[in-house]
Amino acid sequence: MPAPKPAPELKHLDHVLVTPLAIKRRIVALGHKINKDYAKKDLMVVAIVNGALIFTADLLRNLTGPLRLDCLRASSYHTGTKAVGEPRIVDQMKLDVRGQSVLLVDDILDTGKTLAAVAGMLKAKGAASVRTCVLLDKKARRAVPFEADYVGFEIPNEFVVGYGLDFNERYRHLPCIGVLKPKYYAS
Ligand code: 5GP
Ligand code: MG
Repeated sequence: MPAPKPAPELKHLDHVLVTPLAIKRRIVALGHKINKDYAKKDLMVVAIVNGALIFTADLLRNLTGPLRLDCLRASSYHTGTKAVGEPRIVDQMKLDVRGQSVLLVDDILDTGKTLAAVAGMLKAKGAASVRTCVLLDKKARRAVPFEADYVGFEIPNEFVVGYGLDFNERYRHLPCIGVLKPKYYAS
């Protein structure tokens, strides 16, 4: 069967910041590094969904393990491109993090508030260690001092969509990371 046609919503992009091939190659490299750092350790990967869903799925397939996966939700962007208040963490984790080596995975590190809050929560619950892995890092936007241990790409201060990242819950399925044309952010 032929592959599906490219998503029509790709035409909503003003420009692409990271191509699908660049993402794929970078994730292989991140996988190598994480495998080396956690060799023989039993890893607990905690993904912050929905944003980290696609990144985590591809990253996991480059990890050799042993590992387990759990997810939690955190939201600060309720609508549009502006953070509203402090991040809200919805912790419905099934696994017990006590004594675990946790790798916290998110799509993007922006103000740093989400990862700082979630990492703090996991440590408070008794994780032995918490490292963080993000696909994207917008360093210029940092509001709290927080750096990730593993970073895919540093990007400029633009609101991006694709590869799991949304605008009003749309565009998560696009295979690249890009910036929408201004008229689509207005709607
Ligand atoms: P922080 O707490 O670091 O400010 O924000 C992290 C969260 O904000 C990310 O998990 C993501 O959900 C959202 N976010 C920050 N920047 C962007 C962006 O450029 N595009 C999208 N779609 N979400 C973003
Ligand atoms: Mg998020």
